[in-house]
Amino acid sequence: MNSRRYFLQNLAGSALALSIPWESLAGTRNFSHQSYQGPILRVAIMGLGSYGTRVADAMKNCKKAKLVGLISGTPSKIDDWQSRYNIPVTNCYNYENFDRIKDNPEIDAVYVITPNALHHDQVIRVARAGKHVICEKPMALNAKEGQEMIDACNKANVKLLVGYRLHFEAKTLEIIRMRKEGEFGKILFFQGLCGFRIGDPKQWRLNKQLAGGGSMMDIGIYAVNGSRYMIGEDPVWVTAQETKTNPEKFKEGVDETIQFQLGFPGGAVASCLSSYNMNNLDRFFLNAEKGFAELQPSTGYGPIKGRTNKGELTQPHATHQTVQMDEMAGIILEGKIPIVPVDGEEALKDLKIIDAIYLSIKTGKKVKLRL
Ligand code: NAD
Repeated sequence: MNSRRYFLQNLAGSALALSIPWESLAGTRNFSHQSYQGPILRVAIMGLGSYGTRVADAMKNCKKAKLVGLISGTPSKIDDWQSRYNIPVTNCYNYENFDRIKDNPEIDAVYVITPNALHHDQVIRVARAGKHVICEKPMALNAKEGQEMIDACNKANVKLLVGYRLHFEAKTLEIIRMRKEGEFGKILFFQGLCGFRIGDPKQWRLNKQLAGGGSMMDIGIYAVNGSRYMIGEDPVWVTAQETKTNPEKFKEGVDETIQFQLGFPGGAVASCLSSYNMNNLDRFFLNAEKGFAELQPSTGYGPIKGRTNKGELTQPHATHQTVQMDEMAGIILEGKIPIVPVDGEEALKDLKIIDAIYLSIKTGKKVKLRL
């Protein structure tokens, strides 16, 4: 399609009937929109912490997404980010006043990158302000909260996406393609090992109130989610066991290490490990009738490395968050359908599995799942 016609069509149909000229959008250093003429998702980041910084830096190289706003409780961070990312004061908010974002036509979406326990209320407030929401994983502390967030976004007619960056990662997608095309034959087994040795005992990740749990909420969720996209089915049962070597550091409700097993309708089983007490734990392995696939590292920031029975995977590395934000802009503004979903319903499935993992640990029983 003629690119100018494409540009005008999209401009007319999207939230992007911009009040700011394209030249000012393209003014940021490293900004790569110059040759791109389609719609651009204008994003505010809520929570200017370590992952928020990574996303903001990655967005400098996005084509379809641009950082235009900030939400933070720390005025000095706002000052710093304003100058670093060229953000106008009119697009800066704090946690008390960010509902006013509804009156700001220059912001299309808010990316919530705060501690887990805050996601539920913050996402609902953003939805009520009429803005699309991208929320970090875990979307919420449990399935009940997750459902409420989905309902709020549906009611407000805004999109809810979750920061599953690996759903756009090239080597991961190649394995998914091979599996879908039957190159591995019947899938029999998945192993997902996810963990790291966590440091500072005072951080929010080790505070049940803010984290909602321990390693499972933070890193084990990658194995939960990965088992579904690697196998290509949703599990129907789960069993889980917890071990704790340091109850002083990992208090009540904060899991240190969990092993869990999932059963899938096609007969495949998964065996997974989530830990805050082991380094070098970042591996996916898929075993099937006609072959295998392996990713190690599988979920870190990359480069992801992998091979199958057919050889090394050679797809080039690209910064995950840059690709993710460009793809999410396509989903929100152009109705693009991702190969692996990244919406609230997708995240809700992971939360239902995590609820069941905790229930299985508590009861010592196998828990059936209906996702
Ligand atoms: P962080 O501690 O570095 O940043 C959290 C930010 O939230 C800070 O700026 C902090 O000031 C702010 N905040 C607001 N209210 C707060 C409160 N009541 N208590 C504590 N902090 C508060 O954490 P992070 O590593 O950036 O993680 C944030 C979210 O991003 C988490 O949900 C985490 O799971 C997710 N995350 C995702 C990935 C990924 O690869 N997708 C990677 C890292 C983190």
